[in-house]
Amino acid sequence: MTEEFELVEDAEGAPGDEFEEIDVSDTEADRIARRRDREFEQFRDRLKDADQFKVLDGAFDDATFAAIYKLVQDGYVGAFGGPISTGKEANVYEALDDDGGDVAVKIYRINASNFQQMREYLEGDPRFEGIRGDKKAVVLSWTQKEYSNLRRAAEAGVRVPEPVAVQRNVLVMELIGQEGDAAPTLADVDVENPETAFEVVREYMRRLYDAGLVHGDLSEYNLVVYDGELVVIDVGQAVTIHHNNHDEFLQRDCRNVANFFERQGADVDAEALYDYVVENANPRSDDDTDDPRTTVDEPADTESTDG
Ligand code: ATP
Ligand code: MN
Repeated sequence: MTEEFELVEDAEGAPGDEFEEIDVSDTEADRIARRRDREFEQFRDRLKDADQFKVLDGAFDDATFAAIYKLVQDGYVGAFGGPISTGKEANVYEALDDDGGDVAVKIYRINASNFQQMREYLEGDPRFEGIRGDKKAVVLSWTQKEYSNLRRAAEAGVRVPEPVAVQRNVLVMELIGQEGDAAPTLADVDVENPETAFEVVREYMRRLYDAGLVHGDLSEYNLVVYDGELVVIDVGQAVTIHHNNHDEFLQRDCRNVANFFERQGADVDAEALYDYVVENANPRSDDDTDDPRTTVDEPADTESTDG
């Protein structure tokens, strides 16, 4: 795939560090919100009055409404349906795009976000080096990261919602499930064949790792089941293998996944899962010194003194 190749070519250090163009300083949505033209204000007031948004009184600021406005102008969102999920940090809505196709719209709430924790995931991810540290920048980077991670996971052959568009703190993606009937999570279904389902998740983990990504919050709650398929969701926190804590995150993912399938009666264990993922993947790693592309900046004082 040419796109994948380009990403590698653009890489500054190891593949996986490809530069992501993010401009979180002043987005088009911020400008729309500031301009306060009549059309935008009417749009915002209409949306605020709609039943789906009314319940969340005050949850979204003007710039968030402006981001939605921009997505509507660009044709990614036509009409909003009901909320699929109203979580602590983000709400997910069903919507129709301009052509009447189903999409899911995930809206991060800048103020409700646990941005300290978000920052820990962003720091150490070379894609986001040097982003400003304030709440807005962190949440916007996070949303952008979720979009990028979805794309990279899809390219790696992992079934995820196809990313459609990202605008400020709002992400548009494929709706998994049917209109009015979003797909249930793995936690909410009877798993008929836990061994097979486990093998699918294991393969997803291997492919992610192979693409240099660790999910970081993988469990039965972030896997949905639709049409006989398992779909990985909620990849905002996923980090590249260059993140200092990536191995810890991978081990935790393995524990969550193995524990779930063990409870379902499958004969699995976390360590074997971890070994499988690590041994059968070939992530483009920093230690691969044969590969000139993998040179990373080392601190100046790393010279060994012990010979
Ligand atoms: P929570 O804290 O509730 O887990 P979150 O911020 O982690 O929320 P997600 O896990 O991405 O957000 O989404 C919350 C819920 O919304 C999911 O459990 C799933 O039921 C639903 N959902 C998210 N994305 C989609 C999608 N693309 N298609 C269908 N349902 C989705
Ligand atoms: Mn989730």
